[in-house]
Amino acid sequence: MSLALRSDTIAAISSAQGLGAVGIVRVSGPRAHAVADAVFRGRRVPSRTPGGRFLFGRFLDAAGNVIDEGLLLVFRAPHSYTGEDVVEFQAHGGPAVLAALLARTLELGARVAQPGEFTLRAYLAGRIDLAQAEAVGALVNAQTDTARRQAAMGLQGALSRRVEALSAQLTRVLAAVQAMLDYPEEGVPEEDRERPLRAAVQDLEALLHSARAGRMAQRGARLALIGRPNAGKSSLLNALLGYERSIVTPVAGTTRDYLEAALELAGVPVTLIDTAGLRETLDAIEAAGVSRARELAENADLVLLLEDGSQPREPVDEALLAPLEGRLLRLRTKADLPAAWEDERSLPVSAASGLGLPELREALRQRLLGDVALAEAWLSSPRQADAAERALAHVRAALELPDELASYELEAALEALAEIHGRNVSEDVLDAIFSNFCVGK
Ligand code: GDP
Ligand code: ZN
Repeated sequence: MSLALRSDTIAAISSAQGLGAVGIVRVSGPRAHAVADAVFRGRRVPSRTPGGRFLFGRFLDAAGNVIDEGLLLVFRAPHSYTGEDVVEFQAHGGPAVLAALLARTLELGARVAQPGEFTLRAYLAGRIDLAQAEAVGALVNAQTDTARRQAAMGLQGALSRRVEALSAQLTRVLAAVQAMLDYPEEGVPEEDRERPLRAAVQDLEALLHSARAGRMAQRGARLALIGRPNAGKSSLLNALLGYERSIVTPVAGTTRDYLEAALELAGVPVTLIDTAGLRETLDAIEAAGVSRARELAENADLVLLLEDGSQPREPVDEALLAPLEGRLLRLRTKADLPAAWEDERSLPVSAASGLGLPELREALRQRLLGDVALAEAWLSSPRQADAAERALAHVRAALELPDELASYELEAALEALAEIHGRNVSEDVLDAIFSNFCVGK
């Protein structure tokens, strides 16, 4: 998609594919009202209707035959989603109706919109910034309430404000440093330089933690259950499915020899993988050695190691677990039965009685989302995280350098931060962002 500010008129089916009670065809650009005049028959003429109104009438094809009847929403530049003239046809939501409506708008000179092109136009018109545009994509894709809430906050500009507050902090330090460049013998007082920079480092670190949480909330996490046969893997999986809100019903793999189940845990869409049958039990790890454990760590965000608490403990080769470090959560299962052993690193749980499941849920929340505040805006894309990462590196460098060099680092940090929500990004970046959108958004 070429991002030169286009002056043509775009059209797309904006509602979901398939059958729906109502479907929407959206048209944006200078010819939007003319297109509507040609398609719509009702008591009013769209191009002579004030913006923000809806009209009821019939939608006609080129021969004057009725395609459908429905509502026409009329918006006038700049008071529309894209900032351009926009009309939305709300018709019956069947694929044939919507295809015929779209085809008619194309006959009348509209062009099929690229994915995300309406939102791109909103961005190019300055109606939303880049962080808000990404929030639109995240909102459409949100599968859990946590993801939805974060995206809605981002759309309201919460992330942009958080980044701007950080930028303002860095700008003040930069000004202080630059003011001193002419008087190097004085130096910038510690409270104007080092202290705010350390605070900025902390803020940036917190922001980066939120990126991981945001990724988890959006994309979900893969949790592998490992343990010896009879450790209680399948039972725990079923207990969690019964305890938590299930996203889809679990389907035992008939062709695969392991079972995956999707559920929502602490606002994160989680795929639980019971490795039974597949040679992914602890025994198999021990047989195959460290490489197998590494592979598992690469494919799972968290690994739950289940050990039967009702039986004498079978020692685990800790060296084999080393690659899982940081992703491993140890569980002592069958905690409803008398404990045959205890280990403070191991969380007692019982699939049979439900004992320990709330604690397990909280431990998973901690591991998946970390210590991020739910009320704060999170970074919502790898692109944003990359920019924040670079900003952090520059601020850290500034802390180590004399004033003159520090000022370069601070300028670089500010530039990196501005990429998160700013306008100073390349066409390639915009292209990558908006091509991830669905058509019609
Ligand atoms: P897997 O081979 O690791 O998947 O283990 P299973 O989930 O199939 O469980 C093995 C055996 O332990 C079964 O007989 C289960 O009924 C039993 N079991 C599993 N979880 C519990 C539990 O929390 N309490 C008790 N008392 N028995 C359990
Ligand atoms: Zn099993």
